[in-house]
Order: sequence, then structure tokens, then C-alpha cells
Amino acid sequence: MNKKFLYIILAALFCVALVLGIVVLIVSSGQSGINKPGSSPTPEPSLSTEIPEATAGPEETEEPTAEPYIPLAGLIIGIDAGHQAAANLDKEPCAPWGPEANPSVNNLTMKTKTTAGTEGKFTRVPEYVATLNISLKVRDKLEALGATVVMTRETHDVNISNIDRANICNEAKCDVVVRIHCNGADNPDVSGVEAWIRGGGDGTPEYRELSEYERKLADELLAYFVNATDCVKRNVNKSDSYTGLNWSTVPSIILECGFMSNETEDNRLVSEEYQYKIADGIAEWLINSNALKR
Ligand SMILES: [Zn+2]
Repeated sequence: MNKKFLYIILAALFCVALVLGIVVLIVSSGQSGINKPGSSPTPEPSLSTEIPEATAGPEETEEPTAEPYIPLAGLIIGIDAGHQAAANLDKEPCAPWGPEANPSVNNLTMKTKTTAGTEGKFTRVPEYVATLNISLKVRDKLEALGATVVMTRETHDVNISNIDRANICNEAKCDVVVRIHCNGADNPDVSGVEAWIRGGGDGTPEYRELSEYERKLADELLAYFVNATDCVKRNVNKSDSYTGLNWSTVPSIILECGFMSNETEDNRLVSEEYQYKIADGIAEWLINSNALKR
């Protein structure tokens, strides 16, 4: 009886010890799992510092998606390709003002509506062909830069006088008009670009102010033209004798792009490469002009 009881107690104690052992093993294995270096929580802070960097990425890529390059947006530019296939030898008044305002040039001074223009002494290309080829390239360039371009003609077969050409640009309220022409001279050595602007006109302060504004614009235009083409730079001249300038109520410049009486320049003026350079020069002028009121 005593021996049997002792065995029962020993067996019971063994069971309790076994259970306790298992419990201790479970608890200790749970704790050691948390403390394992591999699963340590230390990466968490470094993760939290990486997250803002990751969100900063998309912001940087969003910025350059920005606006297209439209430096001439809002500008209305008139381009008058000088002359036309058939001259119109009818007459029209050279100026809108009467003799009392300017006795030397007035509304009684009659001039040919549209003259024939010159032609290449060496290439035999008519001026009206060269001026339109240049003008169309100028149009395309300026439109690509965001300008609204008003063309007085886009074909050779038109009949528009110099007053008509001025009125087209007046009605469109052009910020500035460039009248594209090519020059001619008796001396074949003469070459280069020059500009013509209005003179004293009707004698009013407003007219003088417009002439002075054109002077600033034309000075800049010649500088950019020469920079683009590397041709000889001639002068900005004033005159009361151009119908297209006298009837213009908006700033207007006659641009004589070069001399078709000079062999080198004649060949250049009819070449596409040089015509693109002229378009580039005019575009650079409008983009960078300090004088142009926008
Ligand atoms: Zn001309």
C-alpha cells in the first residue's frame, strides 16, 4: 500500500513536471521568436524614411510635362509678299492726307497700284516669286511659334493694290507688318539687307511717334536678319513715297531682303536654304525684340 501510493505520487509529480516543462518551452520559444535578429523591427524606421522619397519621385516627373513652346502667342503679324504675277498699272493715291498736311506727298500724288518688281539678273527669277517663297516660309515659322499670321497673298495670281495690302493688315489690327521685297541696283557689287519706314506723313505727333516706333523695330529686325543670314547690313530709311506705308495705320516695315542684281545674293535669295535663314531671322527678332509692344 505505501509503495503503491509512492508510485502514484511520483507519477503525478512527473506529469506535473512534464506539463510545466512544455509550458516553459512554449513561452520561451515565443519570446526567442521576437528577439530573432532576422525578424527584428529595426528595418521599420528605415522603411518609413524611404516612403517620402518614393512619393517625391512622381512629383519630379510631373513638372516637365508642362506647356508647349509658344513664344509668339497673342501676336498678330502681317506678311505682305511684294508684287504679283501681273502688274496693275492703274493709279491710286499715294497717301491718305491732303496737300495742306504734306505738300510733297498727298492724296493728289498718284502711283501705280502694283508694280512688276525686279527680277534676278542671273537667275531670271521674278521678284514676286522670290518674295512669296520667302513669305510662306516666314508664315510657317511664325505660326509654329504661336503667332497669328495675316498674309496679303498666298498665290501669284492675285490683283491687290498697295492700298488693298495696307487695308488687309489694318483691318486685322496687326501688331507689326513686314513687307517682303527684293532689291535691284545698277551697280552689281551692291548687296545687303535694308529697310524702309514711313517719314513725316501728315505731320501729326501720332504719325511721328509711329515712325519712331518703326525705326526701333526695323533697327532690331536688320540686326537679327544679318545674324541669321550673314549678309551685308545696310540702313533703315524713311520715306513718304510708299503707298503701302502711308496707308498703314499699324506699324509697317518694308524689308528689302537683298539685291537680285548681285550674283551671289540673287542665287541666295531664290534658294530654299537662304529663305529659311530669313524666316529664322524674322522669328528670332519677334521672339527677342525689346521694342515690340505686346
Ligand atoms: Zn519690290
